[in-house]
Amino acid sequence: MTETQKNAPCVGIDLGTTNSLVSVFLNGKPELIPNSHGSVLTPSVIGVLESGEIIVGQAAKELRVTQPDACVSCFKRFMAQDRRFNLRGQEFSPIELSSLVLRSLKEDAANALGMPITEAVITVPAYFNDHARQATRLAGEMAGLTVRRMINEPTAAALVHGFHDRDDEKMITIIDLGGGTFDVTVMEVFESTLEIRSTAGESMLGGEDFTDRIVAHVLQTQNIALEVAEFQFPRRVARLRSECENAKRQLTRSDSASIRLPNEEGEFGGDPKTIHIDRTTYSSLCGPLLRRVSAPIARAMRDTDLAPEDIDDVILVGGATRMPVFQSFVENYFQKPAIARFNPDEIVALGASVQAALIERDAAVDDMIMTDVCPFTLGVEVSKELGGQRKDGYFSPILHRNSTIPISQEEMFYTVAANQPSVTVRVYQGDSRKTAENMLVGQLEVSPLPQGPAGSPLLIRFTYDISGVLEVEAYTPGGKKFRTVLTSHVESLSPQSVEDAKRRIASLKFYPREDQANLQLARFAERMLGELPSWQRQQLDQAIDFYESAMNRSNRDEFHHAKQMLLTCLSSLGISPEDDLA
Ligand code: ADP
Ligand code: MG
Repeated sequence: MTETQKNAPCVGIDLGTTNSLVSVFLNGKPELIPNSHGSVLTPSVIGVLESGEIIVGQAAKELRVTQPDACVSCFKRFMAQDRRFNLRGQEFSPIELSSLVLRSLKEDAANALGMPITEAVITVPAYFNDHARQATRLAGEMAGLTVRRMINEPTAAALVHGFHDRDDEKMITIIDLGGGTFDVTVMEVFESTLEIRSTAGESMLGGEDFTDRIVAHVLQTQNIALEVAEFQFPRRVARLRSECENAKRQLTRSDSASIRLPNEEGEFGGDPKTIHIDRTTYSSLCGPLLRRVSAPIARAMRDTDLAPEDIDDVILVGGATRMPVFQSFVENYFQKPAIARFNPDEIVALGASVQAALIERDAAVDDMIMTDVCPFTLGVEVSKELGGQRKDGYFSPILHRNSTIPISQEEMFYTVAANQPSVTVRVYQGDSRKTAENMLVGQLEVSPLPQGPAGSPLLIRFTYDISGVLEVEAYTPGGKKFRTVLTSHVESLSPQSVEDAKRRIASLKFYPREDQANLQLARFAERMLGELPSWQRQQLDQAIDFYESAMNRSNRDEFHHAKQMLLTCLSSLGISPEDDLA
């Protein structure tokens, strides 16, 4: 290891569904690191250009509006699944896509800090299950990062509050609604100690679902179902989604918003039909989603045996908590104003580097102590003797939800038959007494078992580490040990797939980073073109052509000239890239 590598700090990364950020703990405090475009938010969007080159972030987000088939976003939602995304003939798993985002952040950090970055703390939604956590760690490794720790997103947000308010004595609830996930965490702060008391959430509920409610509503006014439109007119839906995202944000600022309806090609043409939506309509569209929000809040409160009035501070985290309809729902629940003291987009990333400072025992945090919990109940499948009959499919918990981690717990189980050759230990997550209603997280084959009568013991130990990764061990009476980290039945996590994926990622071609901003301008102009009435398009169309051909040649002067022409053309149309990209 070289001297520089030894000194390189462990960065903190918020790998978000919509946006990702990287931060570093420097001179006694956490700081965000801007990307190559000067923004601290890197959209978690990947695109593939016609040349086969990969683009990441804002440029890919621009491209997504006009070429949805060549781009993918929101892949974090499928982190734990064997899903593939096909972009211009190249296939990617959610893990690979995440690793491309991480790689981009790692390079931004390396550029800003002037040294290679090799270590990171990565945040995950508290309600991410075991597969999704393993997948995140793997994405880090594929990006060339040693993942020192994964921490829960609301815990990271709590760390920032704890870092600033160490001397408080309070009970705090953190409500985190991001693009794709929803988490609730209850924490107690006392004498520089942050004790997470409970966590609950939903991994399939976020701000994007609120956007989708508007998209579905607009299509419904045209008698079109979203599912059908998505399939038949992907460009129309992509452009409409971008319109609805803007409308959703507009509704955060004002009482109503208007949405232009794109045509089937995803363009606005001359005089697009406009649909108005006001806050009352929006609130009623959000009703079903808000009802899903209350269940995890109630569960987190119940698990700590607290009532809403016992909570001193309610803290909002995640971009989607900016929505007034969401804020009033939360304030109504707790009967007090919610606090958004830190930027809700940024606080999780800042907390990740506070965690990195804790790991590296930075003097600025040496008095802070933090404990976290395991958000789910984990256990195994057993059979039960009921009314003289043996029935399979019952769940026997080993680790109870909201136990403080790290934790190791063991339980004795017994064979059902004499000389039983083997046992398959099926591990489930959930709270139902029947395994069919819980989630299978993996299994462990215990074979061969020593010969013995029915009722021979088998000891099973669950160890849940500080990053939220579960290890299962089984001991036979002879003391023989069987163990596994649960990766078994997710195909993309199998050792062979991991090796294949690493090789593939290493062989990908990336669009040169220094040219990404230029490319982004072209994609932005292209997106704007689709918004213009036909009589205004020709000039811009030509300016884009000229700019793109100059981009492909190496003459710097010519390129500079073409860029100026494009910018002038945009500004003559009243369009400013800075406004939009900010
Ligand atoms: P993630 O961590 O999942 O990437 P973020 O915390 O960045 O998510 O939040 C992204 C979500 O917040 C998106 O769904 C976005 O539409 C929403 N959002 C951001 N700003 C606003 C706003 N002003 N009004 C309403 N929603 C917003
Ligand atoms: Mg987030």
